[in-house]
Amino acid sequence: MKFNIDLHTHTIASDHAYSTLVEYVNQARKVGVTMFATTDHGPAVSDGPHPWHFNNLKVVPRICDDVAVLRGAEANIKENGTIDLQSDQLKNLDIVLAGLHPNYNPTTEDEHTKLYLKIIQSGLVDVISHPGSFNYPCDYETVLACAKEHNVAIEINSSSDVNTRFGSHDNCVKIANLAKKIGNTISLGSDAHICYYIGNFDSIIETLEGAGIKEDQIINSDPLKVLDFLESRGHSRIDEIRKHFSK
Ligand SMILES: [Zn+2]
Ligand SMILES: [Zn+2]
Repeated sequence: MKFNIDLHTHTIASDHAYSTLVEYVNQARKVGVTMFATTDHGPAVSDGPHPWHFNNLKVVPRICDDVAVLRGAEANIKENGTIDLQSDQLKNLDIVLAGLHPNYNPTTEDEHTKLYLKIIQSGLVDVISHPGSFNYPCDYETVLACAKEHNVAIEINSSSDVNTRFGSHDNCVKIANLAKKIGNTISLGSDAHICYYIGNFDSIIETLEGAGIKEDQIINSDPLKVLDFLESRGHSRIDEIRKHFSK
């Protein structure tokens, strides 16, 4: 399995990340990534960007030096079951991820499950990011069944094993097995916080293959599949990117 699309990356707009968008584009070209989503943290974490970061993503060309760039965000789930981005920001985004982050202190498995369900049902979020996080366990079967019902993708995050969330491996295996059984749409994200990690899914290939997941269940297998999924979620058609990959 090999994937040339990365749907989860952070630039220096999030203070704890270390590369610019242009550095990501250059690195993408170098390693053969044909499309990526720039998905900085929502403003509820203390080192997230100002909300205008998201309002203004429209200035980013659809194709940067031959690489397709999706304008995205990784929103923070708040304790009241909403996200930290408003319609002003959301209307400018091609893809919206949401996950549990330090703006919310872990409580119980039951509470984490309720939050995920509320977010999935809100219709505002396309992908649940790193649901395998060791510090926010939930009832994976209930969450994945709800995601399937509401056409929300479940992320398998390749940083969950090796970079920032040690201890999440077993949860990711559980999630992959359930996703295979339930038939969830799967999105892969490196969650890169420096450009050199873009498109690096080495740590999760074994988990995916072990669960018997085939490429067709993973939207990253084809740029048009990503666009089809986003349109099925109600996002506008992006003709420039469609044209680029239809050549
Ligand atoms: Zn995250
Ligand atoms: Zn992230």
